[in-house]
Amino acid sequence: MRKLAVVGVMGIIIIIMLMKPVEASEHKHLVDLRCNKDSLQPLEGLWEFYWNELLEPEDFRLRPVESAEHVLIPGAWNGYLINGKQLTGDGYATYRTFVRANGEDIIAFKIPRILTAYRMWVNGEEIAGAGRVGTCRSESKPQYLTQQAFVKVEEDIAEIIIQVSNFNHRSGGILENIYVGRSEQVLASTKNALAYELFLFGSLMVIGVYHLVLYYYRKKDRALLFFSIYCLVIGLRTVLVGEIFFIQVYPNFNWEVAHKMQTLSYYSAVLILMLFFRERYRIYVPVWVVNSCMVTTGIFSLLVLATPARVFNHINPVFQVFTILVSGYILVILFRTCQKKESGTLFIAFGYVVLIVTVFHDLIYSSILMSDYQFLNNIIRRGNLSSFGLLVFSLTHSFALAITYAEMFNKNEKMTNELIDLNENLEQLVEQRTTDLRKSYQKIEEQKHALEKTNRKLEKMSQKDALTNVWNRRYFDDSLDFEWQRALRTKSPVSLLFLDIDDFKDYNDQFGHQAGDDCLVKVAKVLQEKIKRRIDVVARYGGEEFVVLLANVDQTGAITVAEELRRAVEAIGVTVSIGVASIIPSLNKLPEDLIRAADQAMYIAKKSGKNRVES
Ligand code: GH3
Ligand code: MG
Ligand code: MG
Repeated sequence: MRKLAVVGVMGIIIIIMLMKPVEASEHKHLVDLRCNKDSLQPLEGLWEFYWNELLEPEDFRLRPVESAEHVLIPGAWNGYLINGKQLTGDGYATYRTFVRANGEDIIAFKIPRILTAYRMWVNGEEIAGAGRVGTCRSESKPQYLTQQAFVKVEEDIAEIIIQVSNFNHRSGGILENIYVGRSEQVLASTKNALAYELFLFGSLMVIGVYHLVLYYYRKKDRALLFFSIYCLVIGLRTVLVGEIFFIQVYPNFNWEVAHKMQTLSYYSAVLILMLFFRERYRIYVPVWVVNSCMVTTGIFSLLVLATPARVFNHINPVFQVFTILVSGYILVILFRTCQKKESGTLFIAFGYVVLIVTVFHDLIYSSILMSDYQFLNNIIRRGNLSSFGLLVFSLTHSFALAITYAEMFNKNEKMTNELIDLNENLEQLVEQRTTDLRKSYQKIEEQKHALEKTNRKLEKMSQKDALTNVWNRRYFDDSLDFEWQRALRTKSPVSLLFLDIDDFKDYNDQFGHQAGDDCLVKVAKVLQEKIKRRIDVVARYGGEEFVVLLANVDQTGAITVAEELRRAVEAIGVTVSIGVASIIPSLNKLPEDLIRAADQAMYIAKKSGKNRVES
């Protein structure tokens, strides 16, 4: 709150410095140039006023002077009682006053816009004019043109006559002061005013374009866009008010259109300012406030577009009230944000207070009050302060933006650095983890290999006979089933040899059980050596009995193999009896049939004297 007060006071001080010192208004109709050689003198005071008459210098030579009314300049003629009738803005009149030259050879005039057309004579010589003066709307043509005029004078008193007509604006007459002085004073004054306004115009345009470019690269921040539009609109307005530079460049520009542009720039500026603040402090401005602002501005703008100036001039005071409401509302928002100590807010608040004060100044200047309360004329002498206010506001806003962006950059930089650090660490970590993982994968792979090896060993062990290292009974059973199925499909023969060592009981008894075991190993070895085909299976069937499965071998072939085996075993000192069975598998036969047949053949061999082959 204290900060806001400080900001407010600073803003007001700036405004007061910009305003001219207050002068008491004396009602005089003679301006003495010698008394005020240093500055331009306003031709203010009571002027002769001839309503509904367009008089030229000739007419005053013939006319009695006492028929004149008197009105106060500057000021609209609206409201004056002439012949029992109160004047409105519409009509025409002639003004006259005198100025004392006090020895000056040339007197110079600085003429403001006059509402809304005029012709001006000094000592009978027509020196200035704007638009076309007429007695009705169709005859007259409005134009706002600020001018300077120079007159060579011979006598000490110069007579000034001005015809004014107005059918286009709500107010008519000479609303701003005409200044008089020496040529160089008028030239300097005009030059300075123009320079100042063009400086404002240029600055606002640059700030506007700058923010537009910022917005282009940062579309997320719509506050930038609104601020840019605001600057451009007010910049444009700057050349439509005050010295009205725009009309000096384009003198034939349509008065109505220029007037609409000026009014619309003011209306839209209020809305855009609201939108700007909402974008910047979104949380504080409810949607309905923004919407009602848009609707209000929209309606007023449509009225401006649809009606001529003399009509929409009447709604202007209403919009001015609206402006005051919006300004107050924004002030409250700023007050709240200042409390929250958001970065740059103090800058914006200061700029805004300056803006508000200047806008209010201009509002009063252009308002109804100006014509109704003469004392305001003494305080408010310039109509174009708000452009300056906006320039201050733009600068403070740019500062605030710079602060915000700088803070963002710093934060960004810090975060980036942190992120880089984190990334580096992360890379190391990932590398470490990957190596660890790879190692453990290798370990697992090795273990897997070892396990597979063991498994294979175990499997083999479960299929081999522990003593003789030929296939065991279970493997033989599986092989027989498998071979049986295969032979069933290919309709090929399967042969089986059934071997039993002869008189092994005796062998054991004679040489001992250990020697018996050794003998079994030897027999198995002989069998394995003789049966070379991989698909044939030599297995220990049980005790001292072996089987040999011969795939795709018929009875004759099998007997040959059996005979060969018998002889080979005989060579190592024991004998075997071999039963041979051969079969072509079919669906009504079973593998067990083959075993049984071989077994029976072996018994026959035993019975027939051992150490022989039977089938
Ligand atoms: P045959 O000619 O009629 O076959 O007479 P055999 O003595 O061989 O009679 P049988 O087949 O009935 O006897 C088998 C003998 O083989 C009984 C047992 O002492 C011996 N035997 C069986 N398995 C083993 C073994 O693993 N090791 C040893 N050393 N002897 C075994
Ligand atoms: Mg036996
Ligand atoms: Mg035996």
